[in-house]
Amino acid sequence: MQHEQKLDNDSVARYSRQLILPEIGVEGQIKLNNAKVLIVGAGGLGCPAAQYLASAGVGTIGIVDYDEVEVSNLHRQILHTEKRAADRWSKAESAAFALNELNSKCKIVPIIAQLDRNNALDIFKDYDVVIDATDNITSRYLISDTCVLTNKPLVSGGALRWEGQLTVYNYTDDNGTTGPCYRCLHPIPPPPESVTNCSDGGVIGVVPGIIGCMQALETLKIIVGIQPSYHRNLFVFNGLEGNCRTVKLRGRQPSCVCCGDNRSIKLDNLPDYTEFCGMGANDKCKMLHILNPDERITVKQYYELTKKSKKHILIDVRNPVELGICSLPESINIPIDKLKTLDACMVKSGNSRTFPEIDKLCNLITEYSVDNGTKTGDTDSDLPKLPVFVVCRMGNDSQKAVKILQKCLKCDSPVIFKDLKGGLMAWANQIDKSMAQY
Ligand SMILES: [Zn+2]
Repeated sequence: MQHEQKLDNDSVARYSRQLILPEIGVEGQIKLNNAKVLIVGAGGLGCPAAQYLASAGVGTIGIVDYDEVEVSNLHRQILHTEKRAADRWSKAESAAFALNELNSKCKIVPIIAQLDRNNALDIFKDYDVVIDATDNITSRYLISDTCVLTNKPLVSGGALRWEGQLTVYNYTDDNGTTGPCYRCLHPIPPPPESVTNCSDGGVIGVVPGIIGCMQALETLKIIVGIQPSYHRNLFVFNGLEGNCRTVKLRGRQPSCVCCGDNRSIKLDNLPDYTEFCGMGANDKCKMLHILNPDERITVKQYYELTKKSKKHILIDVRNPVELGICSLPESINIPIDKLKTLDACMVKSGNSRTFPEIDKLCNLITEYSVDNGTKTGDTDSDLPKLPVFVVCRMGNDSQKAVKILQKCLKCDSPVIFKDLKGGLMAWANQIDKSMAQY
C-alpha cells in the first residue's frame, strides 16, 4: 500500500466524524490510513477490535488465526456468520471477508497459521502495533517476546466468564520510559493443570466485546500519537457487578529474560514455548495425563459395563449448571470445586468429616459394597473392589477428582477409582449421539 500524504475527498467524508476531533484531525487520519496493525486471534476479542479498526480506516490489518468458524463461536465472535460456520471457513478469511465489506479502503491480510516461534518474527515485521487477542498463555509469551524483539507496542486483552482485562505492553512514552513486557509481570507460567480446566471455558460474549473495543481504542491512540491509557496500567472489568478498576503495574524488570539487562531471549533464539508453558498454543482443552492407564476406562468399556448392570457408582464432578445440559443416569454430583476444598482441608487438618457430600458418598459405597458382597470379597473375582467412576465434560477434571478421592476418601469398604476417558463429550460422540454437546 502506498504511503498516503493527504486525504482524498472520499476519506474526508467517510471519516469526518472522527477527524474533526482535535486529537485526530487530518494528520491523525492520514496516520491511521498508513498504519499497519496485526491482530493475533480472530475470536471474541479480535473480531470487535478488527471491526473498529477497519471502520476507523486503519490502512492494513493482518489477522492471524489457524482455526475454523464454529456455531458456538457466534455469540461473541461477531464478524463470523452461520453460513460461514456451516461452510467451515477459516476464521482469518471469514473476518477478512466481513471487514472488506465494512471498509473496502482497508487492506485486510488473512494469515491462516498457528503462530509459532518459527513464523512469528516474519509475520510481525510488517506491522506497527500488535493486538494480542488470543486465549492462552503459550501465545501470550510468544507474542510478547516477539514484540519486545521487534520493538512494537502490544495491546493485550483477555476475557473469561464475566471478567475482562486489558493492558499495553512494551510501549515507550514521551519520557522515554518503556513499559513492562508480559514476562516482566509473569516470569514463570502457571502450572498447566491450574489453567487446564474443562469448566473454565465459559464467557459472556459482551465482555470480550467490550475488551476488544478497548483494544481498538488503545491501538488508535497509539497510531495517532496519543499515549495509551493502559501503558503501565491494567484495566479490569467485571461485567457481572458492572464495575471496573485500574491497577498500576510494576515497570520493566531488570531481571526479565526478554527485556531486562541480561537477556537470554534473542531474535535467533526464541525458546520452545510449548515446553516452557507445558501446553501448546492451539490446545482448546489440553488433555491431562495424570492417571495410570489402569485408573481409566473408555466410554465404550463403561457402556458395556452398564449393559451388564455391573454394580458401580458414577460421580459427575461438573458444576451443577452443566448437569442441566446433559448427564448420565444415576450419576451423583460432587462438583470438582468441592473436592478441591476437601483436598485443601485435608492438607490443613487431616479431617474430611465436615463434608456432607463425602459422607454421603462413603455411606453409598458401604451400602453398595454390602449389597454386592464385595465387603467380604467372596464374589466376582474380576471385581473385588467396588468401582467408583468419575466423569466430567472432557476428562481432565475427572482425573484430578480421582487423585483427590484416592488421597482423601477414608472408607471402610474396598473401592477402586477410575475416570471416564474423554468424559461426557466422548460419550456423546461414541455412544449416545443424541446427547447435547457443549
Ligand atoms: Zn520484560
